[in-house]
Amino acid sequence: MADLIGIDRREDKENPDYESLKKGEIPSPELRAPVRCLIQQGNSHKKDGVETLEYSKMYSKERYKFFLEAPFEISDRCCSIMKKTPAHNYTKQMGKMPITAQMASESRLRTTKWLKNGCNGFDMKSPVSNPMSIWTEQDILEYIYHNHIPIASSYGEVVADYGKGKTKENTMDIGIFDVGRPMFRTTGCSRTGCVFCGFGCHREKSPNRWELAEKVSNSKIIDYMMRGGAFDENGIWKPDSRGLGFWFVIEWINLHGDLHIIMPHREDYLKQYMTKDTEKYLK
Ligand code: SF4
Repeated sequence: MADLIGIDRREDKENPDYESLKKGEIPSPELRAPVRCLIQQGNSHKKDGVETLEYSKMYSKERYKFFLEAPFEISDRCCSIMKKTPAHNYTKQMGKMPITAQMASESRLRTTKWLKNGCNGFDMKSPVSNPMSIWTEQDILEYIYHNHIPIASSYGEVVADYGKGKTKENTMDIGIFDVGRPMFRTTGCSRTGCVFCGFGCHREKSPNRWELAEKVSNSKIIDYMMRGGAFDENGIWKPDSRGLGFWFVIEWINLHGDLHIIMPHREDYLKQYMTKDTEKYLK
């Protein structure tokens, strides 16, 4: 953060502005801290429209400030690199527009986009067809259940949950209302993303996504993700030929951010891959 708002901490080791920043205070309004910094600190609080000296914690990302010191790269570009760019490239090369299974119910952004563009966004900057926009997750599970459609093993099977003491009814013979309707669910994962995605993993109890993936998917992929890794010439932790090195990333985050992310077989990875260099960050 010091670099972001231009506070020197290398030449003047006792810079008072840097000392203030370490205590979580943006040292001076004249510094005109960018919005990103203000969000990390919490926005200044207003009472009856008048700004107070307090910080509102509602949107504060202060808890994640420690990531600014991380010895590995962090960005929000995974979706662009892995999903959007390949889809856009395909469109350019083939002259064909994508069809996706996005649903309006998945997020507020998707609902807004659907309300604006409909299922077929002919006039969008990147035209796309989302024919399943009006489906809900329950609609999809019900359709799979009745039509015996094979699904990826990570989801297990789709089952109809009638609730305790209720008799099994014909789920096809139901009117437009939800009364008497079973809840459909999967016996494995309910949602999946990219296999190495850690988004939200700090909120999961055991078995977490990687523990589950070891069982219901491919345990070798999870091992590849956890093992290996090395520092490059600039001291940045990167994947290497042995693996992606998530063991170090998770361990560092847990140590510095107190996030309690579950790492399957933690002791084994630490024992096998800890070096003097990694130890410096994990003390
Ligand atoms: S599933 Fe996770 S890794 Fe994949 S694009 Fe979404 S946030 Fe990124």
